[in-house]
Amino acid sequence: MFDDQRSKKVILVLHCLLNQNARIDGCAYFPGAMGEAAQAVVESGIGVLQMPCPELCCLGLDRAGRFRDGADLGIREALLEGEGRAACEALVQHVMHNVREYRKHGFEIVGVVGNDGSPACGVELTHYVDRGEGPGPGAFVLLLREALVKEGLNLPFVALRDHAWAERAARVKALLAAATKR
Ligand code: SF4
Repeated sequence: MFDDQRSKKVILVLHCLLNQNARIDGCAYFPGAMGEAAQAVVESGIGVLQMPCPELCCLGLDRAGRFRDGADLGIREALLEGEGRAACEALVQHVMHNVREYRKHGFEIVGVVGNDGSPACGVELTHYVDRGEGPGPGAFVLLLREALVKEGLNLPFVALRDHAWAERAARVKALLAAATKR
């Protein structure tokens, strides 16, 4: 079954790798896809599962002005509390449904690509409302990793860094190369 031209390998990528229109106001670096980073992923021959943009889906496209009584409410914080967390967890479950279906049929999920510095999609670096950028995963990556581990999947996570492709190209290409060789 599924013995056709497909690679039976899938990589989970952050939404804005392929669609910069989802970025917060003032933070899109490309008209559409993320240039060389997107090209490298698409040309690898690995299937690209574009995950939903957690910030857009949970907080809206115009999410820059999240203030109450003059205080910044914080994006990462909003995605880990109350309704925001419930919405974020629902997105994670949507991704997990895809992951389960692929695995059920013998496909390999080769890894996850996030974006460091993002309150939602950071892998090693995120953004906190009280101290700015700092170590730790973004809200969506945190919840996704927990869900994957719960299913016994310890996938490699790598992060882009917005427009700084050269800074992260080696890591992403190494992940893609290792997956295509298997
Ligand atoms: S980094 Fe994540 S939350 Fe931010 S725009 Fe991209 S997909 Fe959306």
